[in-house]
Amino acid sequence: MIDPRRRLFLRGRLAESAAPQAPAVQRPPWAVGEARFTALCVRCHACVDDCPRSVLKVGDGGFPEVNFAAQGCDFCGACEAACEPQALDRAAAEAAHGSDSPHAAWPGWRARIAPQCLAQKKVECRICADACAPRAIRFAPALGGISQMRLELAACTACGECVSVCPVGAVSVQKEAV
Ligand code: SF4
Ligand code: SF4
Ligand code: SF4
Repeated sequence: MIDPRRRLFLRGRLAESAAPQAPAVQRPPWAVGEARFTALCVRCHACVDDCPRSVLKVGDGGFPEVNFAAQGCDFCGACEAACEPQALDRAAAEAAHGSDSPHAAWPGWRARIAPQCLAQKKVECRICADACAPRAIRFAPALGGISQMRLELAACTACGECVSVCPVGAVSVQKEAV
């Protein structure tokens, strides 16, 4: 017979493993790791106020997060320069990932295209590709038909320029499953 204390312990472990995980929050670019970020960030919102593209907003708990509803990030660096506690640290991020890496600002974050994408429904549309400066979204010509979209995740900077321009809301930027 199983020890009642062990049964309670196992129940707790099962409930823990069944609990849904909160979705990852996209912090401003070059943010340090999440645990360190929430420890360092004093919620002053200087990054939000100084972003010339209004890409940052105040999110849960008063911490800043990304909002690509209107436009994407052009990596101007104003948010990082405004962050006195260095919760955003471009030099450290670039040292870790390489200064020319497309993934230094948001490692692990990439564009995702949902099935409502017009091009995937064989309707001519290349608006997202036109907005993507690193050419992570491309269209391969198809003989006698609508060109096929190709997403080159290795080139995607997670800048979000492709998000707001999509007429059917098919594009988002999400954290890759690890
Ligand atoms: S790098 Fe510039 S555009 Fe991007 S979030 Fe920071 S301030 Fe805004
Ligand atoms: S500027 Fe730095 S400390 Fe202030 S809210 Fe933004 S990330 Fe946090
Ligand atoms: S998020 Fe990625 S796919 Fe979208 S515009 Fe930026 S680099 Fe291109």
